[in-house]
Amino acid sequence: MSVNPHFQRVALIGFGLIGGSIARAAKLQGLAGEIVTTARSEKTRARVLELGIVDKVVATNAEAVEDADLVILCIPVGACGPVAQEIAAHLKPGAIISDVGSVKGAVVKDMAPHLPKNVHFVPAHPVAGTEHSGPDSGFAELFINRWCILTPPEGTDAGATAHLRAFWAAMGAKVEVMTPDHHDLVLAITSHLPHLIAYTIVGTADELQQVTESEVIKFSAGGFRDFTRIAASDPTMWRDVFLANKDAVLEMLGTFTEDLAKLTRAIRRGDGEALFDHFTRTRAIRRGIVEIGQDSAAPDFGRQHGQLDKKQS
Ligand code: NAP
Repeated sequence: MSVNPHFQRVALIGFGLIGGSIARAAKLQGLAGEIVTTARSEKTRARVLELGIVDKVVATNAEAVEDADLVILCIPVGACGPVAQEIAAHLKPGAIISDVGSVKGAVVKDMAPHLPKNVHFVPAHPVAGTEHSGPDSGFAELFINRWCILTPPEGTDAGATAHLRAFWAAMGAKVEVMTPDHHDLVLAITSHLPHLIAYTIVGTADELQQVTESEVIKFSAGGFRDFTRIAASDPTMWRDVFLANKDAVLEMLGTFTEDLAKLTRAIRRGDGEALFDHFTRTRAIRRGIVEIGQDSAAPDFGRQHGQLDKKQS
């Protein structure tokens, strides 16, 4: 069954990497009759106006959602509950209310109690991003071939879920539906734990006494710099992710710590076979990711390398 992805009026609350990318993609694909947006600060709202991507920039969240058929909260996870409370009385009956938060259980728990019965709540998480944030960081292609996970609470109108699914698919995303708890467990290992490890390793290197800071930067191509990209992610967003997905992250961290202990033991005992077997298994996972099109096969993440001049012989 094909569903029309179009909405008459779309309200985006928050215009950073994700809100700005939705605005750009929806405009390009003609998915909204009108896009209205707002952001917390006057500075961001002024910049959004200057960029000229959306039709209207308003000063308050309540004003933004007036008469909107689709409202998407593109703000940090911790702000979703208070904003839901603020906009509840101003929502159009029949509207779809969604978000893009990287954690779903806490967002559903924080938002659902405030929303009136005559709107459809369909939370979402586009599993796509970069380490950049702010109104200039978004781009229309961000969601192409990336997953967007919808976590509608039990009893949500199937038509509303299908409408939002069509909207995300029209921006290039592949869409899957799952429960908020399952989402949080999957993302704890695929996204939240890798970020925690990157934040840890970059912090550890920074504190090392034996290696000067300039050496850390100079020799970073050995692997460290790939962690620094992740560790440069927005501090507000990631603080909220770890506070909101505490249980799933702690569960995965427990398993991770046990596995790290196994590798530590293999190194201490000189167990080359155990190390080789482990690294062979992980290499296959990387191949699998490339095979299903979730990353490019280009070596070193496609970075450009310098050229050597050919010497005349
Ligand atoms: P961002 O670039 O920092 O933008 C956040 C936006 O939210 C800004 O426009 C900010 O306004 C606005 N904002 C904050 N609190 C607000 C409030 N109470 N009312 C209205 N606007 C408010 O962040 P982002 O990367 O787009 O992330 C937004 C959401 O997407 C987060 O929930 C995150 O978990 C999720 N997400 C992020 C990624 C990623 O890789 N970045 C990927 C998937 C999902 P000001 O500029 O005025 O402060």
